[in-house]
Amino acid sequence: METVVLEERGVEKLKKRYSPSIKIWHPLQFGASNARLCRLGDQPPPRKDFEFKMTTKDEKCLFCNIEDTSTEIIYKDDTYLAFKDIKPATAHHYLVIPKKHIKNTSSLHTSDVELVKKLVEIGENILKEKSANIEETMYGFHVPPFTSIQHLHLHVISPISEMGFISRLMFRPNSYWFITASSLVDKLEKK
Ligand SMILES: [Zn+2]
Ligand SMILES: [Zn+2]
Repeated sequence: METVVLEERGVEKLKKRYSPSIKIWHPLQFGASNARLCRLGDQPPPRKDFEFKMTTKDEKCLFCNIEDTSTEIIYKDDTYLAFKDIKPATAHHYLVIPKKHIKNTSSLHTSDVELVKKLVEIGENILKEKSANIEETMYGFHVPPFTSIQHLHLHVISPISEMGFISRLMFRPNSYWFITASSLVDKLEKK
């Protein structure tokens, strides 16, 4: 699936012209003035009033380019990826990310509840596959400005009882710097 980035002013016009063969995400989801348009059919012809750029990637973002690194990808589909945290807090510590560049939890809206749930679902499946303790798992996100990588990533950590002091602090549920996936879902539903 490819994505076209265009100026916000172009979205409504293009929507009328190509709908329903295209899906349009709200520009605010990306915290930018650009809207992103996901092409399901053929590429609409470039037009003078839109600036097209064939990418959903932020070239400088590590997670956008994670597949080009030596990182072992443990889960992959059209939309999501998962891999081991570089500094695991316990025996099982994975990161699940959307492939498209979403900056952080502040870029999410009510319409992203399903995205968050999907990240958790993928995390849980990985834990099951690895025979990790499902009961003793924490799913959560660092909250800006406490995000080390500017690409939304779910931390999947198990078993939490084995976490050391520093890790407990770093991943303290619903602190100023870390929010659990279920709390984030609650928050988004109220947005
Ligand atoms: Zn990225
Ligand atoms: Zn993090």
